[in-house]
Amino acid sequence: MSIQENLRKLKESFINPDCLLIAVSKTKPVADILAAYEAGVRDFGENKVQEMTEKQPGLPLDIRWHMIGHLQRNKIKHIAPFVHLIHGVDSIKLLHAVNKEGKKINRILNCLLQVHIAKEESKFGMDERELLATIDSDALGTLTHVKIIGLMGMATNTSDEQVIRREFAGLKTLMDNLKNRTLPSIFEPNELSMGMSGDYKIAQEEGSTMVRIGSALFGERNYQK
Ligand SMILES: *Cc1c(COP(=O)(O)O)cnc(C)c1O
Repeated sequence: MSIQENLRKLKESFINPDCLLIAVSKTKPVADILAAYEAGVRDFGENKVQEMTEKQPGLPLDIRWHMIGHLQRNKIKHIAPFVHLIHGVDSIKLLHAVNKEGKKINRILNCLLQVHIAKEESKFGMDERELLATIDSDALGTLTHVKIIGLMGMATNTSDEQVIRREFAGLKTLMDNLKNRTLPSIFEPNELSMGMSGDYKIAQEEGSTMVRIGSALFGERNYQK
């Protein structure tokens, strides 16, 4: 099926039509990005700095680039001039590094804090305690060139919908609870980045505001290339 046709089907199946579709174009050629762009998509996600910086220069300037993978501190500078939103920030250290790069080029960089909600072991994402410690940290007050606009999470890779739903609902509750706290001014949590090709409907039912969709739009990825 064509990208255009996949997009139409996806949009039709959205439980929340206002939820932002981020087209995850990792491993896919620029031609596929352009096909989705021509069909109306403006938000694209990549998980590697190098791949994003290779693709970005040849593509329309009104594309909003989302860094959805784990970001290494020494690579932030390569995407800082153009990135729209960094989804996977999971430490104060990384937040400081992002701030530093934003400051250098006088650009405020939008971030989401990644929360570890899945059962699977993963190095990435903060647990709830770390998240609260980050938010309450005095260090946040010194950040001038980052803005934290919400949370990101990935559910367990399972066919058990109950588990997925519970994890997404937990992230939504966490964000709602944050809104009732006194928050530093750089922290205005409104966005919930949750849901991928296999679980975006459940994510939307549980309050997702942006879904990151790759294979359901572009087809299966072939990592062998
Ligand atoms: C690859 C990736 C996606 C998209 O996965 P699909 O199952 O192909 O939709 C979403 N989020 C992250 C963080 C990814 O790395």
